[in-house]
Amino acid sequence: MRETQHVIVQEVGFRDGLQSICRVMCTEAKKKWIAATYDAGVRHMEVTSFVPPKRLPQLADATEIVDFAIRHPDLTVTALAPNLRGAENALKAGVHRIVAPISVSEKHSLANVRKTPDEMIDEFRRMRELRDSDPSWSGTRVVAGLSTVFGCTYQGYIPERDVRDIVDKVIQAGADAIALGDTTGHATPTHVRRLLEMLLPRAEDKVPSLHLHDTRGLALANAVVALDHGIREFDASLAGLGGCPHAPGATGNVATEDLVYLLHSMGFETGIDLEAMLRARDVLAEHLPGEPLYGYISRPGVLHDSLLPLHSSRGLPQ
Ligand SMILES: [Zn+2]
Repeated sequence: MRETQHVIVQEVGFRDGLQSICRVMCTEAKKKWIAATYDAGVRHMEVTSFVPPKRLPQLADATEIVDFAIRHPDLTVTALAPNLRGAENALKAGVHRIVAPISVSEKHSLANVRKTPDEMIDEFRRMRELRDSDPSWSGTRVVAGLSTVFGCTYQGYIPERDVRDIVDKVIQAGADAIALGDTTGHATPTHVRRLLEMLLPRAEDKVPSLHLHDTRGLALANAVVALDHGIREFDASLAGLGGCPHAPGATGNVATEDLVYLLHSMGFETGIDLEAMLRARDVLAEHLPGEPLYGYISRPGVLHDSLLPLHSSRGLPQ
């Protein structure tokens, strides 16, 4: 009998979802959401971003949220840090992973972090050096979160050689891991396949994870292609929370519950209780009244019975 394969689903709604909407969620509601997500079995969460509160009031409670999250046993707590100062605050708060947003697109990079991609890679190197400077931080992983990998709202098409060069540079700068981000929902299955075939041999053991947005409805199809290429880690956001201030009508990340349903339907194991995940949507409905909640599986519900016979007769994916 083949072994069931585990796929990591990281909930990023607390950061990516919330930072893209105008309604501010109070700290207590965020804690309720984190607790409900943990109770549903999620063990990887990107809970906040260490940015100046003036720039992003929604995430001004970063330290308090990390302090709450790291009390949960076996939970890997990640925070975004766009600069060295943010990384220092994240390290002091005790996160397990720091993600530095590094745009492949120069225009997006300047708009997002006011640095060119090369300047941001220098900042990333300094983050890594800072982490290495104190033995008590040695357990924290420093992740290069590459954004606009598949396209950019400002720049349009992103040449594949630009992505390849950035991957090489962040490996040189000491990235512990690399996440590939479809920040603006440009990715298509063909594009995902092409990029992964080019990048995976170069990324060696850095095991890129994929950060998908469902802006144009292709996130799940893109995930299937990535799974076929061995990707076993995905970011997702409950109810696809989020959007984009620069693209009216745009939805957020791929919905966590839809991605989990897809993974279970393919015989992958996530450790996540899908029904409990669906119930966690109530926290959003209660504390973000009026905010659009996306996702498919929440409407008709989960088809448990139809999935099991499929896998007993056809086996599990290799
Ligand atoms: Zn994103």
